[in-house]
Amino acid sequence: MSDVYAQPTTGVDATDVRALASYTTLRMGGSAGRIVPGNSAEEIVRAVREAGIRDEPVLLLAGGSNVVIGDAGFPGTVVLVRSRGLKVVAEDAETVTVRVEAGEPWDELVAATVANGWSGLECLSGVPGSTGATPIQNVGAYGQEVAETITGVEAYDRANDTVGRIDAADCGFAYRSSIFKYSDRWLVLSVDFRLARSPLSGPVRYAELARALGVEVGDRVPLADARATVLRLRAGKGMVLDAADPDTRSVGSFFTNPVLDRAAYELFREGAAELGEAPSWPCPGDMVKLSAAWLIDKAGFGKGHPGPGGVAISSKHTLALTNRSGQASTADLVALAREIRDGVHSRFGVTLHPEPVLINCTI
Ligand SMILES: Cc1cc2nc3c(=O)[nH]c(=O)nc-3n(C[C@H](O)[C@H](O)[C@H](O)COP(=O)(O)OP(=O)(O)OC[C@H]3O[C@@H](n4cnc5c(N)ncnc54)[C@H](O)[C@@H]3O)c2cc1C
Repeated sequence: MSDVYAQPTTGVDATDVRALASYTTLRMGGSAGRIVPGNSAEEIVRAVREAGIRDEPVLLLAGGSNVVIGDAGFPGTVVLVRSRGLKVVAEDAETVTVRVEAGEPWDELVAATVANGWSGLECLSGVPGSTGATPIQNVGAYGQEVAETITGVEAYDRANDTVGRIDAADCGFAYRSSIFKYSDRWLVLSVDFRLARSPLSGPVRYAELARALGVEVGDRVPLADARATVLRLRAGKGMVLDAADPDTRSVGSFFTNPVLDRAAYELFREGAAELGEAPSWPCPGDMVKLSAAWLIDKAGFGKGHPGPGGVAISSKHTLALTNRSGQASTADLVALAREIRDGVHSRFGVTLHPEPVLINCTI
């Protein structure tokens, strides 16, 4: 059976079967100590337990679309999340709750929900990777995030050696974050989503999507229209994986949008006044979210800006750092990320933070 998540081997030493670059969308990362496939929840738990007994570090890797792995690789056991399957576990006249195994490819799930007339995931069409990774950073796009539909996850707790359910309220979901991010305590084995039985999308919240659909913000559209339009918008930004498009050799957005308290925001506004009104969004607790893409662009790092070794800002999206040549190293990517972070800080006094999980490397 072919590996649904394997990446084309451009720039990867095809003779190195442990090269993690073959498992990441950036096509970067040195070798693993060992790589073990986990084709079911039981296999995943067993592989992690056994590595623990050997006192080896463990890395769970699914689609490899949100990790930056250092050139030295990972000196332990990498467990590939490859469990498949979904089933309806509850339903009533208005909703259906579907339980999805962690390794189920995310976009196949979204396509299936749209085809079934289940509403709630359609705006997350085209996000690469696995279903089990979506709670890790509360995946979001075009006005939807998984925290809105997840009711709970089944997880293996490495600290207590138990498998149990964690309700959504206890997952600590926040903007691109949860209790699972940067923690190796939890293995998400399956995820439950409660979706509305409806041929229509949720209210469209994202202005760009509403414009592309020819509707007003707040309107609902047929699920298939929402999916097709999101996929089209994403492809135009290099945000749908495409082996023929070097702009998609990335982790999507490299930096999160910074969230400032009111005082820091006012300071930023003063310093950036001559650039016109910067895009911003109010957040709970009198916080304000800024656009990382705007900051990067205005600090002088435009689309296509090159870094060392063949890395570059995507030619389609300022927030994506790409392995444009297919031959670049993680050190090259890190150098570009640092240049951008430092440039934004010296121009605006705002610190950008990476969105992907950094493994054996740091910016
Ligand atoms: C072109 C492109 C576009 C993108 N667009 C978006 C977007 O619009 N919105 C968005 O939020 N993200 C986006 N991303 C980021 C990424 O696709 C998502 O974060 C995705 O959910 C990662 O899934 P994965 O299976 O590839 O995770 P991986 O990269 O394999 O893993 C990511 C992290 O989660 C951990 N992990 C993975 N599976 C599990 C599990 N079952 N249990 C516990 N830990 C686990 C890993 O150890 C690692 O720390 C994009 C990435 C790319 C390349």
